[in-house]
Amino acid sequence: MTALDSRHYLTADGGGRVETATHPDHGGRVWACSSCDATGQGEDEGRAHAAGCNNRGGVLPSGHFQ
Ligand SMILES: [Zn+2]
Repeated sequence: MTALDSRHYLTADGGGRVETATHPDHGGRVWACSSCDATGQGEDEGRAHAAGCNNRGGVLPSGHFQ
């Protein structure tokens, strides 16, 4: 049994999460966001997406968090 080191990060809006896991084929880190449809590669990128993802209420004010 292969242990896929998966973890998740809550999105900025608290309404979803980015789940990351090691891809079984190429062994790289991949992620998918449950709050929007974004996917990508890389633990850091996934974490950064979670920190910036605010899919609740529509458009995110660019680069500004209160
Ligand atoms: Zn997202």
